[in-house]
Amino acid sequence: MLGLMQDRPLLISTLIDHAARYHSDVEIVSRTCEGPTVRTNWRDLSKRIAKLANALKSMGVKPGDRVASLAWNTHRHVELYFAVSGIGAILNTVNPRLFPEQVDYIVNHAENRVLFFDITFSGLVAGLQSKFRTVERYVALTDAGHLPPDVDGVLAYEDLLAPEPDTVEWPVLDERTASALCYTSGTTGNPKGVLYSHRSTLLHSFMVCTADGFRLSSADSVLLVVPLFHVNAWGIPYAAAMCGAKLVLPGPKLDGKSLFDLAAEERCTFSLGVPTVWLGFFQHIDSTPGIDTSALRLERVVVGGSAAPRAIIERFRGLGAFVIHAWGMSETSPVATVGNLLPRHRDLPEKEQVDVQVRQGRVVYGVELKIVDENRNPLPQDGTVAGDLYVRGPWVTSGYFKGVGGNMLDEDGWFPTGDVAKIDADGYVVLTDRSKDVIKSGGEWISSIDLENAAVAHSDVQEAAVIGLPHSKWQERPFLIIVPKPGTAPSREEILGFLSERVAKWWLPDDVAFVSELPHTATGKLQKTKLREQFRDHILPVNQTSHS
Ligand code: ADP
Repeated sequence: MLGLMQDRPLLISTLIDHAARYHSDVEIVSRTCEGPTVRTNWRDLSKRIAKLANALKSMGVKPGDRVASLAWNTHRHVELYFAVSGIGAILNTVNPRLFPEQVDYIVNHAENRVLFFDITFSGLVAGLQSKFRTVERYVALTDAGHLPPDVDGVLAYEDLLAPEPDTVEWPVLDERTASALCYTSGTTGNPKGVLYSHRSTLLHSFMVCTADGFRLSSADSVLLVVPLFHVNAWGIPYAAAMCGAKLVLPGPKLDGKSLFDLAAEERCTFSLGVPTVWLGFFQHIDSTPGIDTSALRLERVVVGGSAAPRAIIERFRGLGAFVIHAWGMSETSPVATVGNLLPRHRDLPEKEQVDVQVRQGRVVYGVELKIVDENRNPLPQDGTVAGDLYVRGPWVTSGYFKGVGGNMLDEDGWFPTGDVAKIDADGYVVLTDRSKDVIKSGGEWISSIDLENAAVAHSDVQEAAVIGLPHSKWQERPFLIIVPKPGTAPSREEILGFLSERVAKWWLPDDVAFVSELPHTATGKLQKTKLREQFRDHILPVNQTSHS
């Protein structure tokens, strides 16, 4: 027997309608690429969204068509989020930090018909225009006065919106209709498309707003540092409309000073970003004598995308903000685990609370996790054994766009994340490695992430990477590469001495190198494939630390 509840579909258009109606005066603050800061609110934003939806239809964009964006976090990019998906088309947010060949690949693979871009990317677009086989219209996210001269046939976004009516009748779509398309950064091979649906997006948004999720609510002013081109900005635009949070959009300026000033001026209570962004934030604080941090109102800061270093968690505590360490991937919408404390952690000493926070967070309802051994047999979730991490749930991908990669799921529908992790009885996850980065020393696994975390705790270390290098006796041994903080010159011995008090003796790296910078992917992750290439010929000293 079926239930008798109304079968109203979960649609992205309902989010913006709700925000416009019941959180109408809540502000959206946007730093534009042209320079000025635009202040609007959910009501006025929804009118512009309606105009954009009408403009898209006038241009001939049909349900199922793909529309690309190459853009920073601004109000116009948020408008695209709602208008494109609202009419049943699919927004493909392309990461402008990718190599031009990858942008070319993605735009063609997705078969985008229209490309919306920020004027800062006009050079990139102009250079690739002859290669984009399917793009019929180019729209610069600006007004007629700032149109880039180098892109052929370009239209100004504001001109496109101006003549259109500011109301729209949203179509009632099947909630499983595709809404957005993000390509994984693909450190190896071509990027692969993850195709989200209205349903998956709304379920993910509900989770973001729960108390054991990000606790997003109408009380929040959100500094959205994570880019709108990075896995849906971790779901925040949708969730912010759901709960009526204020959005503060930093535009192209993601340096420490700009973020600090915005957070202070807009009384931001909540923010999200990858660890490198926060390193810049604290560098700004450290290098500005007499800086007044008392205007900051940050209560919660989500750190994800890469492991949140202990130092960042502690520094935010010093500012009165709690770091919510989260884990996920493009394939999981992206949020799958969220690092809140349980009641029994509340009275622990600060150091022990931080021990909980450095874990990658706790599984949220809606996501199931398992770890398996090399024969795919399930491993116990007791916090001690590490295994390949698999995930399942209504906001987890069932396969890549256009069938790339074939069927990725195992026989029970689990998706292999490529991460290696431990899970404890409370559902906290500790990520020990990417499976391809695991260091196997004498048949035992050494976690490169643990070693990196231990190294960045040293006061002179800005960033650290650990890779495995071949070893005649142990097959592979850890090799530590360090970027020292400006003005410091730590020695190999000092670093190894520091680590020896923090990790097992047989985990101690066999050698240390110092470099001025480390290679990163377009989403700020360490690019270990590059490092392995760079240090391919490095010979580890013999008779070094061994298993004992
Ligand atoms: P993107 O590069 O666009 O973020 P991916 O989906 O490729 O997209 O990145 C997902 C991967 O990032 C995860 O599989 C994991 O290896 C890594 N990652 C994400 N969050 C964390 C975290 N909190 N700690 C360590 N690694 C993380």
